[in-house]
Amino acid sequence: MALKTITDKGLQTLSIHAGEPPDSATGASSPNLVMSSTFVVDQEVSFSANNRNDETPFIYTRWDNPTTQQLENKLSILEQAEATVAFASGMAASAAVLLTHLSLGDHLIISNANYPGTAEFARQTLTRMGIEVTPVDTSELNCIQNAMRDNTRMIWLETPSNPLLRISDIRSAAEIAHTQNVLLVVDSTFATPVATRPLNLGADFVIHSLTKYIGGHGDAMGGSVSGGQEKIGALRSEALMHYGGVISPFNAWLIMRGMATLPLRMRCHENNALLLAEYLENHANVELTRYPGLESHPQHALAKSQMDNFSGMICFRARNGKTVARRMMDQLEVIHYAVSLGHHRSLIYLMQTDDLIDSSYRLEGEELDKYRTLAGDGVFRLSVGIEDAQDLINDLDAAL
Ligand SMILES: *Cc1c(COP(=O)(O)O)cnc(C)c1O
Repeated sequence: MALKTITDKGLQTLSIHAGEPPDSATGASSPNLVMSSTFVVDQEVSFSANNRNDETPFIYTRWDNPTTQQLENKLSILEQAEATVAFASGMAASAAVLLTHLSLGDHLIISNANYPGTAEFARQTLTRMGIEVTPVDTSELNCIQNAMRDNTRMIWLETPSNPLLRISDIRSAAEIAHTQNVLLVVDSTFATPVATRPLNLGADFVIHSLTKYIGGHGDAMGGSVSGGQEKIGALRSEALMHYGGVISPFNAWLIMRGMATLPLRMRCHENNALLLAEYLENHANVELTRYPGLESHPQHALAKSQMDNFSGMICFRARNGKTVARRMMDQLEVIHYAVSLGHHRSLIYLMQTDDLIDSSYRLEGEELDKYRTLAGDGVFRLSVGIEDAQDLINDLDAAL
């Protein structure tokens, strides 16, 4: 059952209205929250995921749900995708794509430093299942090209990447992938559809942790995958219906409410982040600052060509990082010393190099040296919120 929705308006209008027409039964202007797990039907409906299609009525919330469908429609319109499926978390979305589209003997090319959950899933779980995994620096196209094999089935980009904010060239990676019938997946969590529409640049799937910028308020977990109708249908039937990582309609509703202000928030995240990045870059105790919007970012030109907004993530290295982290835990007044990102609230966390290398990335040799040269013993991941920039600067100033 498809709900009528508007698609041909500006980004702010779409963020508010797309996927959320007034309720046809009651005229309610705001979206209904439908918490029902089951639905009364007036026809026989097959129990098999194999027989489900887009004409199947609502029957069970693990298959689909009216509130969740509104969120999915909104995401499709913002990502300019044919279809979207929402999951319980970003990891559920990522695992769904990896497990549904890779099989024994297939080969995956993935970034050698990205979101730790994805990194560990690829290196531990997928290899245990007989899938070959080659981690490379995906911000260098020749590294992707050189890693291609006859059995390569998927290239996985995360751009900008966690935690070093490396940018991967989506359009060029798509060209490499599609010479060989390889799927290109982009985890666009740090960018959001306000900055980048990866499907328009040639990606087959775009993934979001909705827990981050899209929900934006740190109160609901969710994930999404957008792409072509057929491939998303397959994900719904196999991953959502059988692996079962279904989002609560309540979380879908909260995330949809958050999305209404996504373009406004992203503008403020970007403005604040630029001010903080410039402050950090000029601070005597800060050894390195990375922000895609700074000219000093080695891929600033690529970021400019691929992103309409530089987002709110900053990575920086401070002298005596562990001591600074301790001071932050004790003294920060506004910024929360906490993991996660993309919330209206500013968050900061020290990502310790040994921890990431040993457990998540397992880098060796030249790649390890390259990571250490940049990250030293650890980098602060700063998710700049939408508070007053001066209050954030004052907070950092006291700790640095
Ligand atoms: C947070 C995050 C994830 C995982 O999302 P969850 O909602 O925490 O499961 C995946 N990728 C990136 C880039 C993230 O920041």
